[in-house]
Amino acid sequence: MKKYNFNAGPSMLPREVIEKTAQQCLDFNGSGLSLMEISHRAKDFQPVVDEAVALVKELLNVPEGYSVIFLGGGASLEFCMIPYNFLIKKAAYLNTGVWAKKAMKEAKLFGEVVEVASSADANYTFIPKDWTVPADADYLHITTNNTIYGTEIRKDLDVPVRLIADMSSDIFSRPVDVAKYDAIYAGAQKNLAMAGVTIVIVKDDALGKAPREIPTMLDYRTHVDKGSMFNTPPVVPIYSALENLRWIKAQGGVEAMDKLAQQRAEIVYGEIDRNKMFVGTAKAEDRSLMNICFVMADEYKELEKDFLDFAVSKGMVGVKGHRSVGGFRASCYNAQTIEGCNALVACMKEFEANH
Ligand code: PLP
Repeated sequence: MKKYNFNAGPSMLPREVIEKTAQQCLDFNGSGLSLMEISHRAKDFQPVVDEAVALVKELLNVPEGYSVIFLGGGASLEFCMIPYNFLIKKAAYLNTGVWAKKAMKEAKLFGEVVEVASSADANYTFIPKDWTVPADADYLHITTNNTIYGTEIRKDLDVPVRLIADMSSDIFSRPVDVAKYDAIYAGAQKNLAMAGVTIVIVKDDALGKAPREIPTMLDYRTHVDKGSMFNTPPVVPIYSALENLRWIKAQGGVEAMDKLAQQRAEIVYGEIDRNKMFVGTAKAEDRSLMNICFVMADEYKELEKDFLDFAVSKGMVGVKGHRSVGGFRASCYNAQTIEGCNALVACMKEFEANH
């Protein structure tokens, strides 16, 4: 049976990205060695990093004065590296979900943290709109897509302080005005690559301002200066990122990804809104195009497990909601197909017809 992958991360990647990466794992550039076995200093590997960096800059139209680096440690390490490098006295955070909260927790180790707004009381079902950033904050941190609760900030905010964003689950799904940010980071395992690499886009002249000693590995300048080669980088994940960046470019870039994301979301949210058995959890205007969260309508609550079992029997993978929210989550990252969305919708319609 054909499987449709709605996993939240690690998640679906284009088949050709997986195949090309697998081929290089068997025989890197005809060298007779696996990509897993070569030195990251080998002359064939530097072009991989260089092309990946160049493609990130091209696809996101990254202005002069910014560096693109690949790191290990996941987005979770960035929760700590951001304040280590940018927090001087006070930082502002918009609390829109579990990941934002985790980022705030780390920042508190480095100085005062102001929560400018939070939707925690409403189980993070919306993005707070009315808030102000203290003028003396060193930066405002936002999480553009809330993977667990299915809300998203789809425009680049104008704020009077440095703007820093965790784009782990929506990077490369739309054009971004990078000039509005001093740093953007993302764990790769949703929209960019296999797990194991983190991408950071950082404004060079924003670095070096924090008045503290920073351990070498946690100092962004180390990695900027060494072009992501200060220590052994995650070689295979970076290669998979390169193949995926090439794929995104071949599809028409982030503009095409944005269009596709809107089409997919219309299909799936359209059915959630039409089907009497299901209800979307996020406020309509803040709905994520990446993580589509929904639950059974009150009168059908007892059928939740039945629907999950039915969906699995129809080849749907990973539609169970995050353990902290329950219900269902259909993650529709760049690689998700219209066919996959239609298959999910058919499954929802059939379940409705059966009850
Ligand atoms: N930020 C967001 C928005 C996420 O969705 C996740 C993981 O799902 C993380 C951060 C943590 O990423 P990592 O597991 O790479 O540390």
